[in-house]
Amino acid sequence: MIRISNYSEFDKYHAYDGNDLGAVYFADRTVFKTWSPYATGVYLNLYLDGEGANLIETVPMELMSRGVWYVELMYHAEDIYYTFTYEFDNRKRFETIDIYAHACGVNGQRGYLVDMKRTDPPGWEETPRPVCASPCDAVVYECHVRDFSIDASSGAAPGDRGRFTAFTKEGTRYHNVTTGLDHLKELGITHVQLLPVFDYATVDESKPYKAQYNWGYDPMNYNCLEGSYSSDAFDPRARIREFKQLVQTLHRNGIGVIMDVVYNHTYYTEESAFQKSFPNYYYRLDRNGRLSNGSGCGNETASEHAMYRKYMIESLKFLATEYKLDGFRFDLMGLHDIETVNMIRDELNKFDPPLLMYGEGWTGGESPLPSDKLAYKWNSYSFGRVGLFNDNIRDAIKGGTFNPYDIGYISGNRNAWAVLRRGLAGSVKHWQLNNAQEACWAVSPAQAVNYIEAHDNHTLWDKLSVCAKHFSREERIRMDKLGAALFILAQGMPFIQLGQDFLRSKPRVPKEGEPVNEVTVVDHNSYNSPDSTNSIKWNEKAENIDVFNYYKALIRLRRNNPLFRMRTKEDVEHHMFFYDTGDSSFIAYRLQDQNDTLIAVFNPYIDERHFLLPEGRFYIRLNEQGKMNKFPIGGDVVIPPISAMVFKKIRGSNS
Ligand code: CA
Repeated sequence: MIRISNYSEFDKYHAYDGNDLGAVYFADRTVFKTWSPYATGVYLNLYLDGEGANLIETVPMELMSRGVWYVELMYHAEDIYYTFTYEFDNRKRFETIDIYAHACGVNGQRGYLVDMKRTDPPGWEETPRPVCASPCDAVVYECHVRDFSIDASSGAAPGDRGRFTAFTKEGTRYHNVTTGLDHLKELGITHVQLLPVFDYATVDESKPYKAQYNWGYDPMNYNCLEGSYSSDAFDPRARIREFKQLVQTLHRNGIGVIMDVVYNHTYYTEESAFQKSFPNYYYRLDRNGRLSNGSGCGNETASEHAMYRKYMIESLKFLATEYKLDGFRFDLMGLHDIETVNMIRDELNKFDPPLLMYGEGWTGGESPLPSDKLAYKWNSYSFGRVGLFNDNIRDAIKGGTFNPYDIGYISGNRNAWAVLRRGLAGSVKHWQLNNAQEACWAVSPAQAVNYIEAHDNHTLWDKLSVCAKHFSREERIRMDKLGAALFILAQGMPFIQLGQDFLRSKPRVPKEGEPVNEVTVVDHNSYNSPDSTNSIKWNEKAENIDVFNYYKALIRLRRNNPLFRMRTKEDVEHHMFFYDTGDSSFIAYRLQDQNDTLIAVFNPYIDERHFLLPEGRFYIRLNEQGKMNKFPIGGDVVIPPISAMVFKKIRGSNS
């Protein structure tokens, strides 16, 4: 019904640049504004509740300039729910929640009017955000709110399990190991990245005791929070207050909070609030005028259209300010246009300290926007201040993610070293490495988000159970630890999935008639799998405490030595030197500045290897157990099978 032949022309005449869309409070009145230039009428509906037949009144809105519809209530409207009804062609009417709503009722059907200032927990203003001078200083831990505490082994009180409040409680244990918040502190990570906590569609918030699960990549209301993580989804203030308590508690413990945002598509298409507000404006269309599907989820948003670009920027600024967030992770960032991504970076730089910003440099399907305009990984040089998930180092270390049997460096692939070395050097150009641009794609190490496990695909431990099934458990644990040493010590920003540090697995029950084998008993896409698959079983931390202690040691080593956290391409070029060991897969390099010399050696073989230390006296900074040994050594050293060793030069020793 609505056809716009040229969106940039359309935007010139119709886009609105005010920052007052939605509901705005003044001392004695409440003003509503919404943008819909082609509507023939817009109405504000006020309700007593978040659902059901309890309309208070419907008020017609008035068309101002540039497609903005306006109405004001002559009182401070709080604790009231609202929607807009948009009318097109004088006949079709769509009722929907306001896309700018900051709070909502159960299941996100209606906006909720609340003065956000009154949702702050005590001490909120006084709790500062932690300082993180560079992405290279961050160690990010990816957590799903429910997975973190839903299992009884978390030690969380029943009322906290699966909810925001579980992150606010100290002292939880499984037997003698720490769980929950204490676990985060003990591991030593700097940031928690939460899987989507904005309001998503596929968990019915009205049924808190029904068996339901979703990762949350099914966005409904970007500026509202998910109700199923709160103690009461029917109380719109509960989720806001409890999420602020989560942020506040983590901040008090020096841990930043990163929000996973999914602006690239909406769960609903024709039924989405965007489509109902202004059909076919907020999404990209294909040549036939149909919604395109670059996300693989039924639609893709159009960040290059002025009013969706504006929407994204204002939404991010609102979330960052209101919830004191420390960064954003962009889902399928490759679908957003480069100009928008750089504008967002500029906005997030205005915060003090600046926010972290990184994303997936790929899409979920083909987009109609020309590929040179998209924030794809292969356009990385055009948005060098924004981090990108490093699938090169990931696949080099553990093998390709799409074939579970594919092996990587840690599991016996003797061709993975070339890509791996580039990853170790921050994916920037380095004089000792083959500088093909597709491999050295990062402008600086700060752009490389190094990881080998995330919510997508198999966990590292499950991957090893398939591709390295002929090895013993002890050998697979060595592979896991070697993989951890490689990506945590690599130049860039390390990213770890919750539980990866104690061999997280996602067990799966094969369907009836399905063969039972190493592939069918693990879940590689658990987005709506049950808790039995997704939840953290904290007993596994107790059982694999040696692995946990090793991850912890790696994180401490990285955080204590700036040489593992070099900021620029030039630093890496000048301070990182690869040794010629006579065997490309036996990787050894030196990191050196005026103060320190560190040597890291990686042995992927099932037997030990020898390495000749350069002149001087060294000590073992990290052995295969993650331990340090201050006893001075030099010359020939043994690197145990499938392991990493880090040596540190004793200062002032040159012979
Ligand atoms: Ca929801």
